[in-house]
Amino acid sequence: MTRELTCIVCPKGCQLKVELENGAIKEITGYTCPRGKQYATDECTHPMRTVTSTVRATDGRVIPVKTSRTIPKERMFDLMKEINAAAVTLPAHIGDVVIADVLGTGADVVVTANIE
Ligand code: SF4
Repeated sequence: MTRELTCIVCPKGCQLKVELENGAIKEITGYTCPRGKQYATDECTHPMRTVTSTVRATDGRVIPVKTSRTIPKERMFDLMKEINAAAVTLPAHIGDVVIADVLGTGADVVVTANIE
């Protein structure tokens, strides 16, 4: 089985092909740097994503947030429940931790804008 992917690690968007046999990776082609090969490997074994979203501030304003590192793609639904239940006390600054070690993933949910 061949899986075709677009590498999302950088804007170049290399087209990757992954040859799979019984779920195991036999060959990866199309990447032009090691990060692309790693992306294809991760995508076919344990896909990861950085998540961007928003959290309500205590005054009702919407505060942009993101995960500080990638988390397993299959945890995104649970992550959004955590984010939707969170609230930020103002002022908020870039890098403020809203949820530490969210879902035990090692990633923090952090603020991505300065809001006074
Ligand atoms: S393979 Fe390397 S150069 Fe190509 S899109 Fe991925 S990160 Fe960018």
